[in-house]
Amino acid sequence: MPKINVLPKSIAELIAAGEVVERPASIVKEAVENSIDAGATHITVEIQHGGITYIRITDNGCGINSDDVPKAFLRHATSKIKQAVDLDSIATLGFRGEALAATSAVSRVELFTKTAEEDFGTHYKIEGGEEILYEEVGCPDGTTLIVRDLFYNTPARMKFLKKDVSEGTTVSAIIERQALSHPEIAFKLIRDGKQTLSTSGDGKLASAVYSVLGREIANTLISVDLTLDGVKVSGLVCKPVSCRASRAYQFTFLNGRYVQSGTITAATEQAYKNSAMVGKFPVFVLGVEIPYETVDVNVHPAKTQVRFSDEKRVFTAVYNAVKNAILSGDTRPEISVAPPKNNTFLHMTTHEYRQTAVNLPVQEQREEPKAIIKEEIVKPKAEPVRLKADNTPFFLRDEFKPNVPEKKVSVDIEKPEPIKEIPKVEPPQPKEQVVEKEYSPKEEIKLIGEAFNTYIVAQKGDSVFMIDKHAAHERILFNKLKENNVIESQALLIPITVKLIGDEYTAMVNNVDLLSSYGFEVEDFGNESIMVRAIPAMLAKDDAESTILEAASSLAQKGSVSLDRIDDILHTVACKAAIKAGYITSNIEKLNLAIKVLGDNDIMYCPHGRPVAFEIKKYNLEKYFGRIQ
Ligand code: ADP
Ligand code: MG
Repeated sequence: MPKINVLPKSIAELIAAGEVVERPASIVKEAVENSIDAGATHITVEIQHGGITYIRITDNGCGINSDDVPKAFLRHATSKIKQAVDLDSIATLGFRGEALAATSAVSRVELFTKTAEEDFGTHYKIEGGEEILYEEVGCPDGTTLIVRDLFYNTPARMKFLKKDVSEGTTVSAIIERQALSHPEIAFKLIRDGKQTLSTSGDGKLASAVYSVLGREIANTLISVDLTLDGVKVSGLVCKPVSCRASRAYQFTFLNGRYVQSGTITAATEQAYKNSAMVGKFPVFVLGVEIPYETVDVNVHPAKTQVRFSDEKRVFTAVYNAVKNAILSGDTRPEISVAPPKNNTFLHMTTHEYRQTAVNLPVQEQREEPKAIIKEEIVKPKAEPVRLKADNTPFFLRDEFKPNVPEKKVSVDIEKPEPIKEIPKVEPPQPKEQVVEKEYSPKEEIKLIGEAFNTYIVAQKGDSVFMIDKHAAHERILFNKLKENNVIESQALLIPITVKLIGDEYTAMVNNVDLLSSYGFEVEDFGNESIMVRAIPAMLAKDDAESTILEAASSLAQKGSVSLDRIDDILHTVACKAAIKAGYITSNIEKLNLAIKVLGDNDIMYCPHGRPVAFEIKKYNLEKYFGRIQ
């Protein structure tokens, strides 16, 4: 590290002011940046009580010469800039020469440091800006900075600190960002004695992402790499289907450092337009490299907001880089013809389904199925509904049964015959309790078929409807959950741990009770992860982790608006429990879903606001084909 100079006042004033120690995370951020500037390959951060009582940053960087140590704690003392011209091309991370001075003014600081050239290291103590110890000491090469009792001498500022957990989480976010932007550095974070983050430092972004964001996210990422017009864009983005309910998983690094840039975020999100669902946000860890002269990082005192002299150039490069990645990656949603997950919708294997389908009258032209609703005023029995063609038994899921409370309802598929000739179904005993009801032609709902294993086509009255089966099912489940306001829970045989980040972790831990009333049994597992012991009964176990992640991100977003939070949890459960587009669905299930959707005006939109069905009027078809003028 070059010698430390004290900046002339004129230069110091050129640099935007605002180096204020606000919270433990501000100290950690500056100190870690110093360690990176010092060429460290291993950086360990330890905090206690969110960093309020204790912060330690240890690195194996170049160290500080003994003579320079006191100087490092003076304002505007820096080894990183000498003249005003340097400001334009500054490549190192911190450059205002104020961090150590500002920190030592409001806490008790202790420093151990040694350069490779020196035989001894230096031990230095400074409290409230007053030097109290300066001695030789034996210590390894590198620097250890210890900061105790933040704001001990300025109690007024202590008031603005948040709870230990929140402060700790903010520190954690700082380390996560640094770890993601420096895969070549091995980071460790220790919170109250527990190691909560550890990256390998193997230089691979994917390894860093795995450690920081967890396996679930790391597995969905595709790489980005494009240089356009002098702007280099590289990193990882998610497949469109893996977009999240919040922007919590978006990381932008400009010339190696974490920034927030509306331009880069907008360009990335624009690239997902039409391939991701509205209201979902891409996960990305993107590095953008451009000449230093074209960016003004000093716009914001915290140095995270950036502006570009040529916004359009940056936008275009990022947009194209991400778009290319999305198009080249295998980004199609998984179309499942695989056997269903335990409690799901599909009752037959693909093979069985095909066999059955061949024999089904509904598969033949002009023989559309017709619903005959049989209502029995008897206690519901768990009786399978049978397909007449081959007697394949299966049970209808409750939510597909027509809404006739307190009555057992079953639906048979009949070959369409003239209405009068429909054979009466033998009513079960006792006869007099059976009401048989046939849809009048006006309300009759016919299943025409299904396109792409996703859109059910049905006819009702004078209209044809296309129904998105996932959206419809999701809405039905959501309404049902809202009505009952109680979610049955199932214990997991083997509890799972889910790794979360920052706010999401805090949100989950703070909402353990709320979650438990909705069927999730979770507990704080430390290390920014939670242990999940039970999930709502309607969910497949395989969906547990992704459901938790989604619930966590919406909880983190919504803060404390309790009604919204409840709705969010219900949305997530409904969405995950609903039949997915692409799954194979039996004809009876299709028909029942159509009956549900077309008979209930509240099922217009899915809980995410996507439409559930659209209507084509017979009149318009006739006009289109020139049958009428
Ligand atoms: P700046 O980083 O803007 O120069 P700081 O107050 O953060 O100002 O640090 C002052 C100086 O102390 C740095 O310029 C650097 O020379 C030295 N320094 C601080 N931390 C370290 C470290 N971990 N390793 C080596 N040198 C350091
Ligand atoms: Mg610094």
